[in-house]
Amino acid sequence: MQHQYLCLVGLLVLASRAQAQSVAAVAAEVDAVYPQSETLYLDLHRHPELSLHEQQTAAKLAAGLRGLGYTVTTGVGGTGVVGILKNGDGPVVMLRTELDALPVEEKTGLPYASTVRTKDDNGADVGVMHACGHDIHMASWMGTARIMAGTRSRWRGTLILIGQPAEEGGGGAKAMLADGLFTRFPRPDYALAVHDDARDPAGIIGYHAGAILSNSNSVRITIFGRGGHGARPESTVDPIVIAARTVLALQTIVSRETSPFDPAVITVGSIHGGTRPNIIPAEVKLELTVRSLNDGVREHLLSAIDRIAKAEAAAAGAPREPLVVVSEGGYALVNDPALTKRVAAALLRELGPQQVMDTPPEMASEDFSEFQRAGVPTLMLRIGAVERAKYDASLKSAAALPSLHSALFAPDREPTIKAAVAAEVIALRELMPANAGLAP
Ligand SMILES: [Zn+2]
Ligand SMILES: [Zn+2]
Repeated sequence: MQHQYLCLVGLLVLASRAQAQSVAAVAAEVDAVYPQSETLYLDLHRHPELSLHEQQTAAKLAAGLRGLGYTVTTGVGGTGVVGILKNGDGPVVMLRTELDALPVEEKTGLPYASTVRTKDDNGADVGVMHACGHDIHMASWMGTARIMAGTRSRWRGTLILIGQPAEEGGGGAKAMLADGLFTRFPRPDYALAVHDDARDPAGIIGYHAGAILSNSNSVRITIFGRGGHGARPESTVDPIVIAARTVLALQTIVSRETSPFDPAVITVGSIHGGTRPNIIPAEVKLELTVRSLNDGVREHLLSAIDRIAKAEAAAAGAPREPLVVVSEGGYALVNDPALTKRVAAALLRELGPQQVMDTPPEMASEDFSEFQRAGVPTLMLRIGAVERAKYDASLKSAAALPSLHSALFAPDREPTIKAAVAAEVIALRELMPANAGLAP
């Protein structure tokens, strides 16, 4: 018994030693490419470009990949970049980064903070910032490109690196697919991406099988009444009262009509009607965002919104049915369960459970889902980006950390980029093993 116990202890010691060695081996490879990735990060962070305007960003990535020996095509679906490295027979794996920044004026106070201002597509003067961390993704992606190009004996297959424009609501993934991403170039067997995570300490690698980000739709409702004098309500149908009832009735969809086990959000984010205290207006406009994790719940939420808006108007005797317009929206991002299990096992084996963990879904949205809807198994890993001291302080004070898209979002760049590169290299080598197709 004791002998068995000692053997077990010995095995555990050996296993943890093997893990320590592999952590050290990956870390050394990552350390070697980090200086160039950091230089690229600082450059991209200082020079952000809005969705559909990522010309300089795309040119920097294309030049970097060409220098590493990738075959590069630019202008795919707008400013999209496709870099291909063929390395013998084997699986085709795509790794995606986004290119675009946001119309947010940076308030981090960092020495390398963006001071860029530009006109947005509506002509408004806006600050521009990589407030979603897409610069972290690009710098990591380039570090991974460098390691993969320099260690070709350790994998076999075709690596496709894409730089995708306009992730932030601009339809960039769809545009690349429509421009032949899966027909002009080899169709991937798997597609990978990482996204930084403003909820976790820098360097934590998060995985989760199944839905990790939500469906998203906008709904615009115009409620019609009959306008008139504010002192003579009997001669009107007041759309402000109908709107108020509608907003409250909409809250009952999530609380009363969907299962507590199906996450869902309906937020009325804007309500506009009327001009003066003594005039009852003729119409009121509502704008909603609607989130869910699966298509059945999405359809239920949208049809319930339509039903309640029309029924409240009918109950008030409105002269016309409300106009309910649903935007096409984004689809939930679902990590392929088998792919997630395989890559998570490799990450846990190489880096250990103190760095790699199952992290919960979020009700944000991402157009990486378009590649999965085009039939390719996809996996997005999350990379914690919060400076450890700030994370610990927020736990103590219960103060909220700046979220993604915040003017204060300041990822702790070194551990975040290093973890993203390590995760990408380990995942790619797992999916394109050097001995693929060879007899054992
Ligand atoms: Zn974003
Ligand atoms: Zn993003």
